[in-house]
Amino acid sequence: MAIQDKMRYAAGIDVGGTSVKLALVSEDGNILFEDKLDISKATREEILNTIDLAIIKINKEANLFDVQISGIGIGSPGIVFEGVVLGGADNLNGWVNVPLRNIFSEKFGLPVYVDNDANVMGIGEVVYGAARNCTDVIFITVGTGIGGAIFMNGQLYGGYKNRGTELGHIVIDHKGIDCNCGGRGCLEAYASTSALIRQYAELSGKDEATIDGRYVVERFKEGEPPAVKCMQEHTDYLGHGIASFVNTFAPQKVVIGGGISEAGQFYIDMISASTFRYSMPDCASNTEVVGAILGNKAGFLGAASMVFKNVIN
Ligand SMILES: [Zn+2]
Repeated sequence: MAIQDKMRYAAGIDVGGTSVKLALVSEDGNILFEDKLDISKATREEILNTIDLAIIKINKEANLFDVQISGIGIGSPGIVFEGVVLGGADNLNGWVNVPLRNIFSEKFGLPVYVDNDANVMGIGEVVYGAARNCTDVIFITVGTGIGGAIFMNGQLYGGYKNRGTELGHIVIDHKGIDCNCGGRGCLEAYASTSALIRQYAELSGKDEATIDGRYVVERFKEGEPPAVKCMQEHTDYLGHGIASFVNTFAPQKVVIGGGISEAGQFYIDMISASTFRYSMPDCASNTEVVGAILGNKAGFLGAASMVFKNVIN
């Protein structure tokens, strides 16, 4: 068999706020092994040791399968440039100026690719998920905040020095409410799952601490008026924001990810309807709004795929 026909394998590492997810992934997207390690309340050193352990575990599994990994891909919260997490990962202690690429390429003697977690999830959906075979894609993840990734002409676009594409922080109300980013009226402040919960608690008079996204979705399905109103507004806000991306980028697909995107097709349909209501028909004529399909595997799959260079970034 010619060398170029041989299947390649990679370590995919997804560093989150409370855990490191890890997987051994083949170039065609099969997950041969996956695991999760806890990093809640961990220090910088402990997080680095956990990533190190994750790679060792993957290597061990690769040996069992009699294959070798050809590289390591890592997704991390924060601003990532040239393999270094510069900062902006507020959930991780001391996660500032962390040269992940150098640390692990020296330790394991393999190429290491690092990018921001939302970018990496987006790469996962483009390479193996809901936006396979698309070149122009907007990926949005709706959770505590709103993150995202932009793909243009088959390439990830991160802005100059990879500091952009904060898709949750486009302004949808210039006189609006304050946002965590220091700005005002951002999409995230209105349309994150946290915002949905806050809005529902205010309208229903229930205790915010006892409510999560799933709770609001269940009440919505029962037709409870406050839940119906809040979900309609939530998807309306999202559609407003996404319409701006559609008018700017004319994507083939807008992929909606994050926990709440798994609520059901009705959720995607509501966002889709509102997106097309507010976007310019000529810009949206080739656009489809779809749900992410990789769930919480998008991170390590996208991380691994950076090794295979299916998406140039
Ligand atoms: Zn903001």
